[in-house]
Amino acid sequence: MFPPFTLRYARLPERFFERFEPVPVREPHLIAFNQPLAETLGFDLAVFDTEEVAGWFSGNVVPRGSEPLAQAYAGHQFGGFVPRLGDGRAVLLGEVTDRDGRLRDIQLKGAGRTPFSRGGDGRSPLGPVLREYLVSEAMHAMGIPSTRALAAVTTGERVVRGIPEPGAILTRVAASHIRVGTFQYFAARGDFEGVRELADHTIERHYPELAKREGGERYLGLLEAVQARQAALIAKWMGVGFIHGVMNTDNTSISGETIDFGPCAFMEQYDPQMVFSSIDEGGRYAYSNQPWIAQWNLARLAETLLPLIDDDSDRAIERATELLHRYPGQHEAEWLEVMRAKLGLQQAQPGDKALVEALLASMHRGRADFTLTFRRLADAAENAEAEASLVALFERPEEIGGWLEEWRKRLAQEPLPEGERTHQMRLTNPAFIPRNHRVQQALTAAMDENDFGPFETLLEIVTRPFGDQPGFEEYARPAEPTERVFRTFC
Ligand code: AMP
Ligand code: MG
Ligand code: MG
Repeated sequence: MFPPFTLRYARLPERFFERFEPVPVREPHLIAFNQPLAETLGFDLAVFDTEEVAGWFSGNVVPRGSEPLAQAYAGHQFGGFVPRLGDGRAVLLGEVTDRDGRLRDIQLKGAGRTPFSRGGDGRSPLGPVLREYLVSEAMHAMGIPSTRALAAVTTGERVVRGIPEPGAILTRVAASHIRVGTFQYFAARGDFEGVRELADHTIERHYPELAKREGGERYLGLLEAVQARQAALIAKWMGVGFIHGVMNTDNTSISGETIDFGPCAFMEQYDPQMVFSSIDEGGRYAYSNQPWIAQWNLARLAETLLPLIDDDSDRAIERATELLHRYPGQHEAEWLEVMRAKLGLQQAQPGDKALVEALLASMHRGRADFTLTFRRLADAAENAEAEASLVALFERPEEIGGWLEEWRKRLAQEPLPEGERTHQMRLTNPAFIPRNHRVQQALTAAMDENDFGPFETLLEIVTRPFGDQPGFEEYARPAEPTERVFRTFC
């Protein structure tokens, strides 16, 4: 049984969305179902039947109590403003209350043409559905706020992206689908009542502690809270070498979750300028730009809130600007916290930033694999002999040797016993990430041979990122030169 829906978004003013029924598909077939997540959402698994489930998660059967809709939003795409984007291929069924009492959006992505589809077909090919499934679940398993994947179905229909590909639908679960672009949609129309209603709804849903604040303080508080979550989120991305690929304002969630896994990828050889996305020609969303793009996106959110912050526009700008200027410091603090933990440091010291930067510079010079460098550092923290396998990741040993000495001196000032330190480091430095070539292999097998085995295996591995998983060491290694993925597509 589908859990009961709360229709909070559907009860907002009609201009916030378009009512829209998912367009039925020919032959829905359930290919993945996230049982542990379903349990937290209150699905009754006793009466669970795959055909019934395929019906729901394809949109062929709208579950009782749902009032499906496509949300309106705008957005800056690669810096250019589009006043009307909206859900062109997604439908929000409603919200359910999870085991912890939190509202969770249930959205079908790839559900057919909506009033926001413009030239698009409203559908998703199988490849991107499986990529989002794998990467969003891996992010969650690594402790990084993310939307989740509840189910995937194939549709029995073809979707043309240059060539015909199998079609699929992803069921996405999110704290909400409210984006910076949702605020921009109303602000761009001069609909400040809309901005206010959206802000109040957002506060009630994500930042209830702000509800008691009066007037402008409440909306400045909203900006401040969203900013804090973005700073924490991006620092976590940086800590695992994640490159989102399309940090447009419509892909920036107000709740602070990672959302919209298009051409995203994990870096292997460390290079701060790394870009994978085929559509990011200027490198706008390169790895090391991500914190500053988040700040830019927050400035776009701030612009929409100015009339609510203060009637005096100069005063509103002054207050929002003062807040935005705190972002670099917040980012650095969050990033240092992430990186300290990765190095096994518990206490903050003035030289920490320089120590982290020196390691990254060595990794860049030595073309070291980002994930394995930190994982092997955890082993080296306990056992000096394990250092050899760390050094082997660098093109030349001298690229890391001197740094290791500095690091050991710094560790000597830490109170934790070695064994405990290694244990902590292994819980923050994953061994297994969705490596791009593995993801590609899993997608290819599914698309070309209808073989979901590689997808299932990879999903199991990347959702246990911190264990050693004996027998699966192959999945921890970087791509061989012939396997390397240079471009990802959405
Ligand atoms: P995305 O690149 O997925 O963040 O989407 C950007 C915008 O394009 C959103 O408004 C989407 O709803 C819309 N869009 C993406 N793919 C399609 C599609 N196949 N059909 C209709 N709209 C789409
Ligand atoms: Mg409407
Ligand atoms: Mg999007």
